[in-house]
Amino acid sequence: MARIQFTDWTIPVAQVGSRPGQTKEIDQEFPAPEGIGDTIVGVKPGAPVHVAGQFDSIVDGLIFTGTLTAPVDAVCARCDVDLSRDFAEQVTAFFPYENKGEDLAAGKDDEETEIIAGEEESGDLYPLLDNGSFADIEPLIRDTFVTALPLQMLCRPDCKGLCPQCGADLNEEPAHVHDVVDPRFDALAALKAQLEQQEK
Ligand SMILES: [Zn+2]
Ligand SMILES: [Zn+2]
Repeated sequence: MARIQFTDWTIPVAQVGSRPGQTKEIDQEFPAPEGIGDTIVGVKPGAPVHVAGQFDSIVDGLIFTGTLTAPVDAVCARCDVDLSRDFAEQVTAFFPYENKGEDLAAGKDDEETEIIAGEEESGDLYPLLDNGSFADIEPLIRDTFVTALPLQMLCRPDCKGLCPQCGADLNEEPAHVHDVVDPRFDALAALKAQLEQQEK
């Protein structure tokens, strides 16, 4: 039987899983998995994600409740300045003992496997590896922040953005104005320049 590959995201939970009513506290950092957001708003792969909470064993699995905190890097949607903020998300996740891959590996009958496989598609279940010895929290970290991150962020709610004519930062130069009052003049000037170029 192939050994399960343990990763940076596996947490030993064999003891808490030995019988219902056990608790294991977690307070440590894990590297952010790939695929959370993008360069506009995202968590860089490998950035430290703090996981604080506990695993509680019930009859058919482990429940994790806690807070995941990740450093989010973003670019202000109005003024392009780089932002870095911590996002903290409350999570509750279920890690069932019956796991499709695990059951197949262990050679158990498929009856339970089919039921669980249907539920897994809901995306609310997270994997236990090696017959319930380890919890794999990589998908939980990814799902949590992929869902939590906004598509855009602002450096501050009233960010004034950049001057549409010259790109000056209007937060730094609130009094910034151009002599041309009507922006349509700009469009006309551009058109004129274009026509002149074509004539050459
Ligand atoms: Zn801004
Ligand atoms: Zn300007």
